[in-house]
Amino acid sequence: MGAQIIRGTDLRETILEEVAAETVKLKETHGRPPGLVTILVGENPASLSYVSLKIQTAHRVGFKEVQENLPADVSESELLALIASYNQDETIDGILVQLPLPGHMDESRVIHAIDPAKDVDAFHPVNVGRLMLEGSRAPFLPCTPAGIQEMLVRAGVPVAGAEVVVVGRSNIVGKPIANLLLQKGRAANATVTVAHTGTRDLASHCRRADILIVAAGVPNLVKPEWIKPGACVIDVGVNRVGERISEKTGKSVAILRGDVDYDAALGVAGWITPVPGGVGPMTIAMLMRNTLKAMQLRVAAEAGTADRL
Ligand code: NAP
Repeated sequence: MGAQIIRGTDLRETILEEVAAETVKLKETHGRPPGLVTILVGENPASLSYVSLKIQTAHRVGFKEVQENLPADVSESELLALIASYNQDETIDGILVQLPLPGHMDESRVIHAIDPAKDVDAFHPVNVGRLMLEGSRAPFLPCTPAGIQEMLVRAGVPVAGAEVVVVGRSNIVGKPIANLLLQKGRAANATVTVAHTGTRDLASHCRRADILIVAAGVPNLVKPEWIKPGACVIDVGVNRVGERISEKTGKSVAILRGDVDYDAALGVAGWITPVPGGVGPMTIAMLMRNTLKAMQLRVAAEAGTADRL
């Protein structure tokens, strides 16, 4: 039997409907929707396309969305001043600075400048620390790991007690998803191994996994014989392997592949996520959910029913 395909595009629709319904309620009770500002520095084509998708999605769920497109040579102090102004802006709940930033900027200084209560990417050390300490009870979870956990829950993949192997230890995917699934709690409580380029015999680790999460950025790294029959395979990788002409627009578009040999893995895995259409759409859905939550937490703190972050 072939693998069950976990389509992020379908789950995204459900989550966005939930967020849009909550947005309507917030507008009724508080007179305004959640506000999200996206800050893009320069014109990196991949970043431009990610940001435009985020803006479109924010618009679709009814958020106030503000776009700040800055030239590539803007100074770091100008960027920090802009972030400071949005930290004070009462109509903005989420601040997203699209990474990577140009080489003359210190990314960590920029991330540290965002108010943790508006850090909807959950990259600020306060939010990273809260994930370590509180797992999924933390106020904000980083979007890609949160999206992966949500896919596991909604697809009915058993996580408690599972052997999870994560390939990749980046700060945005590998480390946080490992931490999230390690916690005692809902859709977690797994036994987690994190593999990287220093790992000896990667294939043998992958073969042990009930849930294999691959975030390496290497096309077709994982072969079908590395997958335990019936395992759940979450392919985070997004690799541009060529270009093609879109039938819809007549324009050149990137051909994307994941880190897993998808066609071959379909015959071995129990569940699998496609690329594109898997983890990527969930990441954007989780950004919307974090922005909604940022406003909910702020209004609750103002009403004295929750702590200020
Ligand atoms: P990253 O910062 O480049 O980290 C890659 C990690 O994979 C590193 O820890 C690296 O090990 C490890 N790695 C690379 N090649 C390996 C190999 N041959 N064997 C074992 N480990 C290997 O990447 P990232 O930001 O986490 O992103 C990973 C992939 O996910 C990329 O394709 C990216 O585009 C994609 N991504 C997708 C989404 C989404 O929403 N769909 C979100 C974020 C990222 P070392 O630490 O030893 O170097």
